[in-house]
Amino acid sequence: MDLIKIMEMFPDQEACIAYLERLRWQGSPECPHCESTHVKQRNESDTGRIGRYNCHGCRSTFKVTSGTIFHGTKIPLQKWFVAIGLMANAKKSLSSCQLARDLGLKQKAVWRMMMAIRAEMSKDNVLLQGIVEADETYIGGKRKKDYDKEAGEPRKRGRGTVKDAVIGAIERGGKVVAKLIPDITGKTILEFIKRFVKTEDSELYTDQYRGYNEVGKEMAHETMNRSEKWEADGIHTNTMEGFWSFVKRAWYGSHHHYSTGYTPLYLAEACYKYNYRETNMFDKFLRELWE
Ligand SMILES: [Zn+2]
Repeated sequence: MDLIKIMEMFPDQEACIAYLERLRWQGSPECPHCESTHVKQRNESDTGRIGRYNCHGCRSTFKVTSGTIFHGTKIPLQKWFVAIGLMANAKKSLSSCQLARDLGLKQKAVWRMMMAIRAEMSKDNVLLQGIVEADETYIGGKRKKDYDKEAGEPRKRGRGTVKDAVIGAIERGGKVVAKLIPDITGKTILEFIKRFVKTEDSELYTDQYRGYNEVGKEMAHETMNRSEKWEADGIHTNTMEGFWSFVKRAWYGSHHHYSTGYTPLYLAEACYKYNYRETNMFDKFLRELWE
């Protein structure tokens, strides 16, 4: 959904609320507290407040935005919709400074909006199947060799930033999942793979890092050897490596002051955008607000 279309479809708060109500209730509003449909919209047109309902079942009040990332926000929904649309369309990750200028809002407020949107994206549930590539990499920070691959954990040095270890798996012709991990030991890798890959129906391709040995006992597992002609048999992790370079380009381009602690949310955004690049991401995002 492009910006012009969003502005046309959602000229004001009323239009945004009407759209969310259609998505959530299909014309029959239901109380989120007691599931009663014995509800009535409050007439508050004189106060300018709209979209609030009284429930005759449990005597509470609610709005279509109750329980969503829009709950309690003072920022007009139209600006939220534009933010979602622009984030979904951006090839790289948008900077909050740029988006703040576009929306006419303060950078801090926009940064919080973007984090809320990313947190929503992180709820996406993915289970990979078939030929799956897995690989780890390091994101953020400044120094490169902070990880000791033999020990599977960060080198114990004095001060300085340590890069975050992240692991990812990608289904050939399918979706990707990537998460921050505390270390790159076999145990951690196995937990990740078991959670996001349907191991009994899949074959895992990785490099020869011994952290994958544990996984190899649980499922079909092939390792590639870069020194051999691995292209011929298709055993490689090029798809996963392509995703990592997409992630790194997207962030280092726009987040000059990469703040540690938010890696999971940045990863969630990158995965979501990759997984739904062929779909109407804006619509999908709004449809799943209540799930
Ligand atoms: Zn109720």
